[in-house]
Amino acid sequence: MSAWLSELNMGGLRLTDRLSSIKIPKVGPKILQAFEKAQLQSFFDVLCELPLRFKNKLCCRPIASIEDQEEAYIEGLIIQAQYHGSKVYKALLQDAAKNYCELVFFRVSSWTIRQLKVGSQVRAYGKVQITPFGVQIAHPEVDSVGWGDDRDHTPIFEPVYPAHKGVSQKLYQHTVAYIIEHQQQLFGRHYQPLLSLFEKLHAWGLSEEELTQYPSVQKQALQELAFWEGLSFFRQWHLKQQQNERLEAPILSEQQLCAYLLRALPYQLTQGQQHIWEEIQLDLQRTTPAQRLVQGDVGSGKTILGFLALAQASSNGWQAVMMAPTELLVLQHQKALRKIYPHPEKIVVLTGSLSAKERRDVLESINSGAAEIILGTQALFQEKVQFANLALVVIDEQQRFGVAQRTRLIQKGLSGVHYITLTATPIPRSLAMALYGQTMVSLLREKPPGRQIIQTHTLARHKRPLALGSVRNCVAKGQQCYWICPFIEESTVVEGQAATEAFQALTVDLPELRIGLLHGRMDQAQRQEVLGSFGEGRLDVLVSTLVIEVGIDNPQASLMIIESPERLGLAQLHQLRGRVGRGENKSYCLLLYGDQLTEQGVQRLQSLCEHDDGFTLAEIDLEIRGAGQLLGVKQSGFSQFRFFDLKEHEPLIAKILKDIPELSPTQKELLSELFGEPDPLHWEQ
Ligand code: ADP
Ligand code: MG
Repeated sequence: MSAWLSELNMGGLRLTDRLSSIKIPKVGPKILQAFEKAQLQSFFDVLCELPLRFKNKLCCRPIASIEDQEEAYIEGLIIQAQYHGSKVYKALLQDAAKNYCELVFFRVSSWTIRQLKVGSQVRAYGKVQITPFGVQIAHPEVDSVGWGDDRDHTPIFEPVYPAHKGVSQKLYQHTVAYIIEHQQQLFGRHYQPLLSLFEKLHAWGLSEEELTQYPSVQKQALQELAFWEGLSFFRQWHLKQQQNERLEAPILSEQQLCAYLLRALPYQLTQGQQHIWEEIQLDLQRTTPAQRLVQGDVGSGKTILGFLALAQASSNGWQAVMMAPTELLVLQHQKALRKIYPHPEKIVVLTGSLSAKERRDVLESINSGAAEIILGTQALFQEKVQFANLALVVIDEQQRFGVAQRTRLIQKGLSGVHYITLTATPIPRSLAMALYGQTMVSLLREKPPGRQIIQTHTLARHKRPLALGSVRNCVAKGQQCYWICPFIEESTVVEGQAATEAFQALTVDLPELRIGLLHGRMDQAQRQEVLGSFGEGRLDVLVSTLVIEVGIDNPQASLMIIESPERLGLAQLHQLRGRVGRGENKSYCLLLYGDQLTEQGVQRLQSLCEHDDGFTLAEIDLEIRGAGQLLGVKQSGFSQFRFFDLKEHEPLIAKILKDIPELSPTQKELLSELFGEPDPLHWEQ
């Protein structure tokens, strides 16, 4: 053992300690810097960077058995070697079965030329190309056989790591090997199980048998790591949950206002709504803060459930907040609630576009308690809003993942209140239960009566004139139409431009129609103006970006054309088309896809034509695009996982939940060390 190691507190390092805490031979300050730059600071970081693939040099392959584009290791005799032109060097290798492979170099070192002398026995590794002129490998790695003793011919299975500036493959391999080889001297014993997983993943010290089985070994090890990571996440999550449950929220038992609201409604609650409303009432009558998740497809009628909860809070003399993702939606909620709420003057709205004076007044009324019901965007919680006596927060977050938001609110000190989240995001059931608990997830399956299926068709872009024809037809029947340009560029400038161009094109193509334009660059007053005109029938066609996506309710609109639908997820498209089919009229949606779209892409869109249920569509999307896309990676918070994948590891959740109570203190400590605290504030960036 080298001197520095014996000085070291044996086994005293943590896996999350910095690489620089020990001296690894060949890893000097410059290399350490390169590691740091690549965000590989700790031993754990380095080990978590898994090989992309392996060079399999375990055994040499007969040339005849190799397929085109396969990476292979071959052995044979060099029977020809020479320059072709001034730069290209070619050597012909003949294997034991007398098949040939040409080794081609576009620039060759004198060292390689010496190795490739005619008559020498060599091994070559590289990607094999089968051409009409024979089998070739361009720039193979060459090892000579029986040529001096400086070459090592033991069979190897060599990992290839992601490239990092300033750290060569050899050096990365060396660093990983060093950590694994010296693990006993370096780290505490409790890392043992974890380290043995990493040994497998880096294909360290596996038997030849195991090496040939590598894919299944790897899968197993990754699954275990995912399990650990999931365990860590759900444990932290439950700790937060329990903290929250220990707080007391006000008991809200008086329901006079709710009864009033129900009478004022122009319809009856569906059975599904009624059932969930009963669950909510019970939640609010307990001191344990409610944390209910109401999942329901677009248009299933979740809003009224939120309204009823708000009314129950104010019936008991407490304040209640409803938060919605966009200002448009907040204003729409305000309008709808004012119609049925007996004290409309006690509803206030807090959004980003209030004048300074309005804002001051609203803040004042929230602070004094004059405001009973507060509607707002997220801005609501970024301000210094002082509530007089808040009891309930309803989050109408449509397709955003409510977990992060709710935790954020709790961190803002809004604890000891009831939370109800309304969402159209089809979070996989087992995940929803794991997060919210068995009794706190409500699923609204049924839709209000009389809903019609929106007939959906796909149409290639070059058939745009057909789409124009349907717009004319729709307007001729006295109905209205949305024309959506879903540019999801970073900047609203680009987005606005795209919609503006579509708008201009349409005014040329449909000069007889009244066409309006809506996009995120317009200010609030302009947007309200356009939406108002559309709502009152003074516009035939509304060209819009995705700002229209959430909540807009115009029963006269019966046709939606969506340009470039391939840019969006199925669940999102489904939400979008939910803007039509809200009245008596038979409604249609046309997906005007780009001419470049692949067959598979068209098929994906086709599933929208076949299915009308957001949850089914989300399942299909999950199959095709993965969980990250479905939940919107940025919003989901699950992007910070290294190993845990929602789709792949969903079946692990049950076992994870079972194991949480059985963790030993050491294991708990290990989990927090390695995977840290989930940081919900970080999730939303
Ligand atoms: P979402 O679940 O997408 O938020 P909304 O709450 O906006 O759906 O409801 C969609 C429409 O259905 C609204 O116009 C609402 O007034 C109406 N609605 C809700 N519940 C019922 C019901 N039980 N019967 C008839 N219409 C209903
Ligand atoms: Mg809604």
